[in-house]
Amino acid sequence: MKINMVDLKKQYASIKDEIDAAIKDVVESTQFIMGRKVSDFESGCADYLGVKHAIACASGTDALQIAMMALDIKPGDEIITTPFTFVATAETIALLGAVPVYVDILNDAYTIDPAKIEAAITAKTKAIIPVHLYGQAADMDPILEIAKKHKLYVIEDAAQAFGTEYKGKKVGTLGTIGATSFFPSKNLGAYGDAGMVFTQDDQLAEKIRMIAAHGSKERYVHEMLGLNSRMDALQAAILGVKLKYIDKWNKARANNAHIYRENLKDANVITPFNAEYSTHIYHQFSIRVKDRKGLQEFLSAKGIPTAVHYPIPLHQQPAFVDEARSFNLPVAETVAKEIISLPMYPELTAEEIEYIASAITEFVGKK
Ligand SMILES: *Cc1c(COP(=O)(O)O)cnc(C)c1O
Repeated sequence: MKINMVDLKKQYASIKDEIDAAIKDVVESTQFIMGRKVSDFESGCADYLGVKHAIACASGTDALQIAMMALDIKPGDEIITTPFTFVATAETIALLGAVPVYVDILNDAYTIDPAKIEAAITAKTKAIIPVHLYGQAADMDPILEIAKKHKLYVIEDAAQAFGTEYKGKKVGTLGTIGATSFFPSKNLGAYGDAGMVFTQDDQLAEKIRMIAAHGSKERYVHEMLGLNSRMDALQAAILGVKLKYIDKWNKARANNAHIYRENLKDANVITPFNAEYSTHIYHQFSIRVKDRKGLQEFLSAKGIPTAVHYPIPLHQQPAFVDEARSFNLPVAETVAKEIISLPMYPELTAEEIEYIASAITEFVGKK
């Protein structure tokens, strides 16, 4: 059997007529950047998430950078985050001259460990960036409480969690600012790059909108430095169609996760933990094994692709190795050695999952 890691062709085939019509609309309108399709998608997202302001931008990476610029993050400021995430979370911190300060992760949920945050706070700390990893929420209540006590901002990196709920509320709407990505392989994916910033605060929203458009509100009047970070109307039109299906697709992923779990019950692996405070939309279905390399080769020979999110925690990445600071992050380092992501997308079939699970069991053996 030949299986794909993600299969965007199947999804396109299921909504082809609507997508093609939406694309044709934009091409015929010749309104290619921002405009009506973008503002419609913004209000669609704001309604879906239950947030006052949703501001489109060019990528998830830009969304994080814009969020920090809107909060006046300056060189030398310290930002607390997780070392176990995609590089963009810390890259944007460092690009602004600020300093990523890593706090270790939970051994089950793999998100930032709230109990270890306070020890990392200094007079220079300005914000905490929790990442809702693999589609599951970080434990927001204790994080928000610590932030309030120490007067810190909270920027949620919700790039892997569009539609995830923390105690009944959508993630990305709980902190000072939320950021998400519509990279093609994300749960809600465009056909190119796109991102979005969320906030409940009117003044911040206005500033975010200006920063995304060269620091300008009125044409050719630039009140502050900003970025060229606009969303293409084509992406907004495509995403507007896909937004209608996001609950259905997220449910299909959760159902696939359930089938994986059932079929891996007896296998000698650690399946994903789902905390009681969060729903899980399974951006990734990532398990832990001791002999990861061996398993990857074994599965690959059977037509089963795998990926590793992420093999190197950020404090060990050459770009971030900070001679002046050493971090003690044993959980992140261990998880990074053992984690492996299996094929996951809404259209994956039960038969395919059973095939993958039996191949895994054959390799790792039973518990
Ligand atoms: C994908 C991702 C980003 C970056 O989004 P882009 O749209 O690719 O720029 C940031 N953070 C996390 C956790 C991500 O998974």
